[in-house]
Amino acid sequence: MKEHAIIEVDNVSYRYEGENVLEHIHLTVPKGAFLGLVGPNGSGKSTLLKCILGILKPKDGQIRLFGIDSRKFKDWSKIGYVSQKANSFNSGFPATVFEVVAMGLVSKKGLFRFLNKTDKNKVKQAIANVGMSEFSARNIGELSGGQQQRVFIARALVSEPQLLILDEPTVGVDAGNVESFYSMLGDLNQNLGITLLLVTHDIGTITDKVTHIACLNKYLHFHGETEKFEEMKKDELSNFYGHHVQVLEHGHAHGRIQ
Ligand code: ADP
Repeated sequence: MKEHAIIEVDNVSYRYEGENVLEHIHLTVPKGAFLGLVGPNGSGKSTLLKCILGILKPKDGQIRLFGIDSRKFKDWSKIGYVSQKANSFNSGFPATVFEVVAMGLVSKKGLFRFLNKTDKNKVKQAIANVGMSEFSARNIGELSGGQQQRVFIARALVSEPQLLILDEPTVGVDAGNVESFYSMLGDLNQNLGITLLLVTHDIGTITDKVTHIACLNKYLHFHGETEKFEEMKKDELSNFYGHHVQVLEHGHAHGRIQ
């Protein structure tokens, strides 16, 4: 194991049927990093996440989580995951913010009426960590997309994971609130020491937030510290963005390409 690596993806390739979606991916997420995994739609980001989370099992290569082969890894409580589709409560959903976050403890405790004082304090703390304390008693369905997204992050945080994986978390966050949303993530990383893996197609917004960047488009085009990414030669960058444009021309991409 590389010293202090939380995730190590070692020469992983993946194919569904026909064409390879991931080719020879080497990716390391060091302990304490805030890594942005960027790439246009269809570039393999979700596939790579599913491989890391053990949902898909690549035949080629190896993935290690906390130094352990992912096929043998059992300590999933160390990993919090907020999927792209988490944000789907409609206005009629009858649960408060507190109850939704408490669901993060349910798998361990059974019904949450059995939550003891320590558990309740954990729920309160997780809500505070995402800046949502004043909304604790509100119905989740009444909140904006960005506020709901914060609640789902709190639900993942309540079991105190060391690694938090977020798939396109700013989808549904108002443009004006994206900055403070990223600041909240930065605080989780800096103040609580949680290692973050953030998946996004929005490279423009994250370069001054994350400590590391990985650019994926079937192959990993860049992987390293954010400072090195910014020093990268312009033509190398435009090669990568060229793929974005191509994808747009074929009509598969949506969202911001910067
Ligand atoms: P991203 O998350 O970057 O948008 P995905 O990992 O979802 O990319 O998809 C990468 C490629 O794999 C795309 O061409 C997509 O159409 C294809 N793909 C994704 N899921 C499946 C699947 N279950 N079966 C076949 N092909 C898939």
